[in-house]
Amino acid sequence: MAFTYTTEGVILRRIAYRESDRKIVLLSPDHGKLDLTARGASKIVSKLAPHLEPYTYVRVTVASGNMETITHCQVKKRFSTFTTSLMKKAWVDYTAEVVDQLLRTRQVDPSVFRLVFDTWNVIDELPSVKKTALVGYVVVAGFVLKLLGCLGYRPELTLCARCGKRMDPSGNTFDSVNGALICRRCKKHFPQSQLVGVSVSTIKLLRFLLQEGYPQILRLKLNARQLAELHSVVQKYLGQQLNFPLRSVEFWRWLNTQPSFQQSIR
Ligand SMILES: [Zn+2]
Repeated sequence: MAFTYTTEGVILRRIAYRESDRKIVLLSPDHGKLDLTARGASKIVSKLAPHLEPYTYVRVTVASGNMETITHCQVKKRFSTFTTSLMKKAWVDYTAEVVDQLLRTRQVDPSVFRLVFDTWNVIDELPSVKKTALVGYVVVAGFVLKLLGCLGYRPELTLCARCGKRMDPSGNTFDSVNGALICRRCKKHFPQSQLVGVSVSTIKLLRFLLQEGYPQILRLKLNARQLAELHSVVQKYLGQQLNFPLRSVEFWRWLNTQPSFQQSIR
């Protein structure tokens, strides 16, 4: 039986559908990830279309039957800098794609919605200066770790997962399959392909990103080596949880070639 409900959420994705319709992937705090249809939304005269831009926070009314159809939409917030900064757009593309891939349709998790909303606010408010490249990189890494934590993949970052002892001063690794630290003595028991080298300072950084909020994360000062290790651990661990490669991962390669990024990490 058809019924109508109203909810709020952020638009993760917009896809062309049939001749003149659009599919909207909405992340809502109370209904989870929703696959909605917007009838006629690709027509120039559509009343819905201007309100259904990706990466906006909206309030929608949905007619639920065989198909969930948006009947009304109101924009609550536009993240204005996402359309003016290519770099911010790339970070947001990446966060949206990761969430879309890790969450099932109708999987309800208000903490994931809150994390996405907070992260987009932080990215939106970052100043457009040279230093932003570095800060944004760390914010996105923090986002991925926090998201994995919300979804039950929080990595173990205190003791060696095999022997239970404290980490060594050097030679430690991160087991990307099991999301755990492996000490220098135990790493011979694991396939090299699933291990990533990790220094003590990067272990502390990973813990910090998981535990602290964005105000503290934004104050971090990192060197190039820590960034490179952070990149390796986060990408390799995230890759284990995904069913297929991220389209937006090209962003990381692109970012690394940007002169502003290279300068900011020196
Ligand atoms: Zn060990």
